[in-house]
Amino acid sequence: MRRNRRVKLVATIGPASQSLDMLGKLFDAGVDVFRMNMSHASHDLAAELHGRVREISERRGYPIGLLGDLQGPKFRLGAFEGERAELTAGAEFTFENDDGVGNSKRVHLPHPQIFNAVERGHTLLLDDGKLRMRVKDASPDRIVAEVVVGGPLASRKGISLPDTLLPISPLTEKDHRDLAFLLGLEVDWIALSFVQRGQDVLEAREIIGDRAAIMVKVEKPQAIDDLNAIIAAADGFMVARGDLGVEMPIEQVPGLQKKITRKARAAGKPVVVATQMLESMIESPVPTRAEVSDVATAVFEGADAVMLSAESAVGKYPVEAIEMMDRIAIEVENDRGYEAILYAWQTEPLPTPADAIAAAAHAIADTVQLAAIVCYTATGSTALRVARERPGLPVMGLTPIAATAHRLTVVWGLHSVVLEKDPVSVTDMVRRACLIAFDQGFVKAGEGILVTGGVPLGQSGTTNMIRIAFVNDKGEPVGLG
Ligand code: PEP
Repeated sequence: MRRNRRVKLVATIGPASQSLDMLGKLFDAGVDVFRMNMSHASHDLAAELHGRVREISERRGYPIGLLGDLQGPKFRLGAFEGERAELTAGAEFTFENDDGVGNSKRVHLPHPQIFNAVERGHTLLLDDGKLRMRVKDASPDRIVAEVVVGGPLASRKGISLPDTLLPISPLTEKDHRDLAFLLGLEVDWIALSFVQRGQDVLEAREIIGDRAAIMVKVEKPQAIDDLNAIIAAADGFMVARGDLGVEMPIEQVPGLQKKITRKARAAGKPVVVATQMLESMIESPVPTRAEVSDVATAVFEGADAVMLSAESAVGKYPVEAIEMMDRIAIEVENDRGYEAILYAWQTEPLPTPADAIAAAAHAIADTVQLAAIVCYTATGSTALRVARERPGLPVMGLTPIAATAHRLTVVWGLHSVVLEKDPVSVTDMVRRACLIAFDQGFVKAGEGILVTGGVPLGQSGTTNMIRIAFVNDKGEPVGLG
């Protein structure tokens, strides 16, 4: 089977979508990657979901990506007397290090790191930014703040610190436990929440190694400040617009989305645009015009993937939401302006053999009007460099490593196929590329494909070869020596 679009679709699994039957329907409707949100999923559930997704992949004979999203350091307040308090604008409010019960003047803040890191003038946001405060005084035991925007505040609501660089790792004890479990399951991607610095990613990489690819959720202003280091350190990115729109002025989110998307593409690493894309479809079978436009904008900007959160996790219309995304993406990709925009943002190849091959493959395929580019790829890096070119024709990634095929499911335009064994010669390489492309409907008799690969065979990092091959009515290459 093959998809008729190049942008990929990510769906968050939740109570509305976790049965084998519903996961299968969502895959059939267009899902390329399923996301398990570890803020909500237990280990038992994660293991079951993993088994169901792998079963669907096996049955359909098509790689499906699995993303384990770690909760990260989400800070919460202590409890209020009667479970809530009313805070008034202009009043003073104190966060204390002891665990007494809170009221409209004080609350326990069970995170000692915060007391040492905040400074006078820093902003504090409570309950997803509904309440706002400015710090007047901070010491190791108490933070005194002025309420700028007041309102009701319930026990254990979240607190965000957009101005404060916290001396914490993005992995909490819960994250460490979840991570060990997810790596044991062999999920394809791990998403890190509330990353602040490139260094955070390097620390996570020490634990993860190459057992999964690392996706950074960009959702903190500190991450924007260190974006170049984060982009260098991670394998992929999520524009996590939910928390980003809390931690930063919400009107800055569209510009940041563009900036992150452009930088990720320039680096040749996939970027997912997430949150509230079809929010109204949680309750309604039809999205708003603005939501359709939002999904289309992310596609026009060149995002690798667009994601559903609550729409597929708890919504009433998960399948309809994916079908909607699929239709929007296909419509944009058929728009004449789409390729022009992608070309306008094209970045120069780096002076490496892999980039030279990727750029040449793109140019040759366009000039000769070939039907597809077929890349032999072990780690996925050649396929990523070709996808970075955003060619106007299908790109296939052939790999003997199933984990590589699974990771590439989130990448723009890549259709991956797991090979049972490595090709034994260059002739075999070209022949199998033709047969697979023909069999999967990427090339017809009389058309040609471009094949990239490496000699000596079977070694990663050796892509150094381009071949053009035309196929006959049996999918065999014509005139191959
Ligand atoms: C977000 O904040 O946009 C996001 C995707 O993260 P989460 O769903 O964990 O809040």
